Amino acid sequence: MTTMQLDAVPSTTQSSSSALPPGSAIGIFGSGQLGRMFTQAAQRMGYRVHLFSTDQASPTGEAADSQYNAAYDDLDAVADFAREVEVITFEFENVPFSALDRAQQLVPVRPSAAVLKTVQHRVREKRFLQQIGVTCTPFCAVSSGSDLQHAVSALGCPVVLKTVQEGYDGKGQVRIDKAEDAASAWKSLGSTEAILEGFVDFSHELSILAARGMDGSIATYGPIGNQHDQHILDVSIIPLRALAEVGPKAIEIACTIVTQLDVIGIICVEFFLTKDGQLFVNEIAPRPHNSGHLTMDAFVTSQFEQQVRTVCGMPLGSAVQTGPAAMANLLGDLWRDGEPDWQRVLQIPEVKLHLYGKQCARPGRKMGHLTALADTAEEAERIVRQARELLTTC
Ligand code: AMP
Repeated sequence: MTTMQLDAVPSTTQSSSSALPPGSAIGIFGSGQLGRMFTQAAQRMGYRVHLFSTDQASPTGEAADSQYNAAYDDLDAVADFAREVEVITFEFENVPFSALDRAQQLVPVRPSAAVLKTVQHRVREKRFLQQIGVTCTPFCAVSSGSDLQHAVSALGCPVVLKTVQEGYDGKGQVRIDKAEDAASAWKSLGSTEAILEGFVDFSHELSILAARGMDGSIATYGPIGNQHDQHILDVSIIPLRALAEVGPKAIEIACTIVTQLDVIGIICVEFFLTKDGQLFVNEIAPRPHNSGHLTMDAFVTSQFEQQVRTVCGMPLGSAVQTGPAAMANLLGDLWRDGEPDWQRVLQIPEVKLHLYGKQCARPGRKMGHLTALADTAEEAERIVRQARELLTTC
């Protein structure tokens, strides 16, 4: 059940004397729920968090000590913001590289702009994985309709066409089952640059979180079993018996990736596992991840606290699991008939409620999550699903 690994890995180590003590100001780009939970973890440890955001009202903005509203392509504003903080991190990978690059001229950015550049573009990300010898989904880069026809023939249907940037939760992707459907898929994506991936007939989806400090030490969480509904993460479970055998291999791959990318911070590596035991990396997120939310209630140190520790150059916290857990997302659909009756879930003592302070509930929008703790992961999954079900049967 213990999923922690703290290995001393040789790296481009930096001296711990550059650690930022509590009281320091951390800047963050991006203003969603990940930034909010990061901010809460940082403030608990005595840090101040300054937010750079394009939105005036946001989940992170509600929690941050101060906020700076400007566009990411306003590089003078980025520079002004950077001068007010001692380190910068980010909570989503669609921050333009130019903004991180400008900030990095003035203050450390962790993970670095170079990390972001590699992983925010699906083709660059997969080429990086190939270079370091990690198996990812088979793919072809595509930049025209005729490229796509060739790629479909090369990979063979079914395949998945994805935009190279800015896709998430299944947005910006379309499955192609027959070669004749390629032209309409290309049109529907409306993209000039895309990636075609072989469709992996997986038995499980799983993730590993890997936090890496300035001294090169690594702490990992996982494997976490993930179930999606309509391409959106629905339920995460740890530990999942079916993943026990493949766990060490997945952890080893995540450690290779975080080290080779030279990340200071936390990443999430998402995998597909096939019935015959093959592991494919699907994608890398250079930040805390929805599947890691259960670390807040079921681990000694949460993924957000590890992000704070790593970006501030502090030692890593223990990633030991305190008990089996399951997490279920709360999407905006649950608000269809008004605010859900939270008392119903809070009557189950093993369930923890997390809400992100979003004012407007839209179908598919992540509004919060529930985590259930139990003696076994199967029981935790049963409880968390039952708790969420109670919200739909009011
Ligand atoms: P992504 O945004 O790439 O993480 O895709 C969202 C979800 O779509 C994944 O979690 C999978 O459930 C599914 N998916 C994406 N790419 C593939 C693929 N190449 N083969 C099978 N399923 C996929």
